[in-house]
Amino acid sequence: MKNEERRAQEIFAELVNEFTDKKIVGFHSGNVRPKLKFEKSTREFGSCQRIYVGNDRYEFKVSINTYALQNEECVRNTLAHELVHTCDGCFNHGKQFKRVGYWVKRKMGIDVNTYGTAEEALKSGLRDHQINSAKYIVGCPTCNQRWYKQRMCKVVEYPQFFSCAKCRTPLVRVK
Ligand SMILES: [Zn+2]
Ligand SMILES: [Zn+2]
Repeated sequence: MKNEERRAQEIFAELVNEFTDKKIVGFHSGNVRPKLKFEKSTREFGSCQRIYVGNDRYEFKVSINTYALQNEECVRNTLAHELVHTCDGCFNHGKQFKRVGYWVKRKMGIDVNTYGTAEEALKSGLRDHQINSAKYIVGCPTCNQRWYKQRMCKVVEYPQFFSCAKCRTPLVRVK
């Protein structure tokens, strides 16, 4: 395990304790799998998987994007966000999620709706990765806007049938 992964694992354990100590509503540490999952994603900083374990019970497995690991604030905010998803009635971003998120902010000073100051830098890091790893690129020949795709899809196959949202020019395949 790399250093940053070990650190993220530590932060996760600290957060689980903090959620318990501060009595965050609907949080049950016993439902959270203690081991973090590390994955590379171009879409999100973290995710939370819900696993049915029988007897009306669910367990939650939290993942963090390895691209988020360089910044501790981002790790903390991302993991706190995912832990809110494990609270009763919070598996979406609905009312209860917002309510619990508000208490996490009040009691722990973490805004679960942002990824901290590193957000922009990380987003651009993810963006670079998306650009470099794109299998297909479709573009607008007029305003030069680009769309990066990993999979074959309608717009990659028939770009001429789609037009640029900004300037209405039919698209072309770039890669
Ligand atoms: Zn979420
Ligand atoms: Zn355009």
